[in-house]
Parts: sequence; structure tokens; C-alpha cells
Amino acid sequence: MSELRWHPILEEWVITATHRQDRTFLPPDDYCPLCPTKPGAFPTEVPAEDYEIVAFENKFPSLRHPPPEPAIEETSLYKVRPADGLCEVICYTSRHTGTLTDASVEEIANLIEVWTDRFRDLGSRDYIDYVLIFENKGQVIGVTLTHPHGQIYAFPFIPPKIQRELNSASKHMARTNRCLFCDIIDEEIADGRRVVVENDSFLAVVPFFARFPYEIYLFSRKHHQSMLTFDDRERRELAGILKAVLLKYDNLWGFSLPYMMIMHQAPTDGRDYGYYHFHVEFHPPYRTKDKLKYLAGCESGAGTYINDTLAEEKAAELRKAEPSTVENTFIDL
Ligand SMILES: [Zn+2]
Ligand SMILES: [Zn+2]
Ligand SMILES: [Zn+2]
Repeated sequence: MSELRWHPILEEWVITATHRQDRTFLPPDDYCPLCPTKPGAFPTEVPAEDYEIVAFENKFPSLRHPPPEPAIEETSLYKVRPADGLCEVICYTSRHTGTLTDASVEEIANLIEVWTDRFRDLGSRDYIDYVLIFENKGQVIGVTLTHPHGQIYAFPFIPPKIQRELNSASKHMARTNRCLFCDIIDEEIADGRRVVVENDSFLAVVPFFARFPYEIYLFSRKHHQSMLTFDDRERRELAGILKAVLLKYDNLWGFSLPYMMIMHQAPTDGRDYGYYHFHVEFHPPYRTKDKLKYLAGCESGAGTYINDTLAEEKAAELRKAEPSTVENTFIDL
């Protein structure tokens, strides 16, 4: 049972996906559905004895094509749409243990090529308006499979958070004739206190407006709308800076830091979004080594975040967590 239900108060879609209640939940390591299928062993979701990186449709999708018929009638107030779209899983490696941090810069560069291919392919379909590439890492985020993997949701609409970013970027462009994100990058570089790590093509900061203590925004220095226009050097440098950010997170307290990593790219509905700017957002749910940041009444109930820390101080902590320079991560290239 799956459909889109309109939330008339917030003016946004809610996806119902009741079949997902039955999805595999933290299986024993021997029964990981994302591992390669070993000869004579149970069939996993990857019918191959080994792989480097593999993308396939999520077995428990929230969105699918063609979509099932909605199980409920709409009214003029409560609109209903089929849950059209696609959900994919990307396994970063056939190795069951470890995280993306353990991948070499070269492996991450290969992953970026796969992300780019999937973005192009899914985005070219007429029923897809937005392609969201993301990773939930860590059981505190609600991850149900520990095998290193990320996900892609291809939506039949532009999700509300992206729409808000588009609206503000479009207003800023109309007012100043400049890109909002390029202006943020210039301001962060000029100030410098919130920069965590940078290279020739990318900049990672705990932004002035951080809502989570260790939140990082990673911007392309060049005004790209998506990964589609990156050149080889930019793909390599994105791999390098991703590795640097992940290492810093893990070195901060000496354990593999859970996070949500989300790629924000332009919609794929065929319109012109020249005012938008590629970036990656990291939202780690920790405020100290052993305390989680909960989205409580003020955040969940009002949409206003309370950050108990200063972005300038958290950026300094992350700068100190090795590796101190991104060049350290380029040895393999
Ligand atoms: Zn596995
Ligand atoms: Zn820009
Ligand atoms: Zn964003």
C-alpha cells in the first residue's frame, strides 16, 4: 500500500509506504542482502560473486514505477496521487564491514561517477522531477542494514526543502544578480573561521547558520547546478574532500560518526535552474561525544532549530581533527 497524501496545512506531500514495515531489520552478518551472492549460499539482492560498486532498485521502495493504485479515494481537501518514482540502493563496496571513510579516494571517485550516471539516467525520465542522492549512516539515524551503502530517491515532485532553497536562491538572484550560494562561499572564505577543509574545487564549512553542532556544507567553488557538469579534476577533488570530511568526523571522537549526507542538486523537470548551486549537506546527530541532538519540540514543532554551540568553535574542532589538509588524501591519485 503506497500513495502520496497531500498535507493541506503544510502544502506538502506525505508518502505512505506500509509495506516498508516488513523490511529487513539489522540481519546477522551472514544474511546481509547487500553482500555478493556466495556460491551455494542464500541469494542476496546482488546476483554476483563480487562487485565494486552496484546500484539496484530498493526491494522495499517508497516510490515505484509504474506506481500502485492509491488505496484510498481523494476528496477536494485531501488530494491523493500515485507514489510514482523510483528508489535505488547503491552499495559502495562488496566488503560487508567498514564505512565510506574506509574507501580510497580512487574508490570514492568511482562512486561519484556512479552517482553522476544514476542522476543523469533517473533525471532524464519524464515522471521524475527530482533526484535525491543521500546516505543515512549509523543505527542512531535508523539504518536497518550496516553494509556500506547509500540511497537514491527519484521523486515525481520537487521536495519542499529543495523548493525553499530554490525560492531563496531565485529571490537572491532577482535582487542582486548574483548566486546566493556563491555569495555564501565568498563570505565564508572572507571570514575564514568556519572553514573546515578546502581544495581548489571545493570548500567545506560549518556554515554561519549551522543548525546542528557539527553540520557541514560542502560547496563546489564553481557555479555548478549538479554533478553533471563536473570535469575529471572536480570529480577527483570532490572524492578527496569527501574523504577528508569523513576522516575528520571519525577522528573527532575516535569512532565512526553517524550522519545524514545529502546531495542537493537542481531539479530534473526540464526547467532552467541556473540560479541554483550544487552542494552536499552533512547533518550528524551528535552534540557531544556521548550526547545526541534530538529534534524536539522547538525543532519538530515549530521548525526553529536551537544550536547550543557556535559554528566558529565547532569548525575549529573539526579543523584540528586529522587530516589537517586535504592533500593528505591525494596520495593515491
Ligand atoms: Zn553485507
Ligand atoms: Zn553559485
Ligand atoms: Zn541544501
